[in-house]
Amino acid sequence: MKIICIGRNYAAHIAELHNEVPAAPVIFMKPETALLQRGQPFFIPEFSQDIHHELELVLRVSKNGRHIDEQFAPGYFDAIGLGIDFTARDLQSELKKQGLPWELAKAFDGSAPVSPTFKPVADFADLANISFHLEVNGETRQTGNSGLMLHSFAGIISFVSQYISLKMGDLIFTGTPAGVGPVRAGDQLAGFLEGEKLLDLGVR
Ligand code: MG
Repeated sequence: MKIICIGRNYAAHIAELHNEVPAAPVIFMKPETALLQRGQPFFIPEFSQDIHHELELVLRVSKNGRHIDEQFAPGYFDAIGLGIDFTARDLQSELKKQGLPWELAKAFDGSAPVSPTFKPVADFADLANISFHLEVNGETRQTGNSGLMLHSFAGIISFVSQYISLKMGDLIFTGTPAGVGPVRAGDQLAGFLEGEKLLDLGVR
């Protein structure tokens, strides 16, 4: 399986990092080794002094496909969960400055914890109005809603599949809302989807 991630998909997050609003979705990937299994803590890697949390809605791909038309894209994912796109912000800033790819800052081991459970798409009343938020040590740090995404779920799936075939079991991180910030050893992160706690993660 693979993990496809969308960058710069919420205007307020683009603004907080002083980035340009992209015309097309910004895509990067994480390998399977970035996944964190249920209950495992996240260990801050030695190569960064500025690991940021980015809470994101995650789509579970349910069907193989390529060159998917946007009108058929909703048929290619069957569940939505939460994930944290951990980012070594110091390293990423250095790579961006040099015009280099972001992989070292984004794809490292453990950089993609996902919720142990995903909610079936059918359980959502409106895919364009899904709320989610992140608490760090009980304090709300990020609040998002799928209605604020620049590119919709269907738009993302259609766009990605023009370049990269989707396979059943792939995960798609759909971008983070504003409020990203550093994590520290001892922090406890909790991700909520429509008010329900789906993700609980300790930082070491
Ligand atoms: Mg992200």
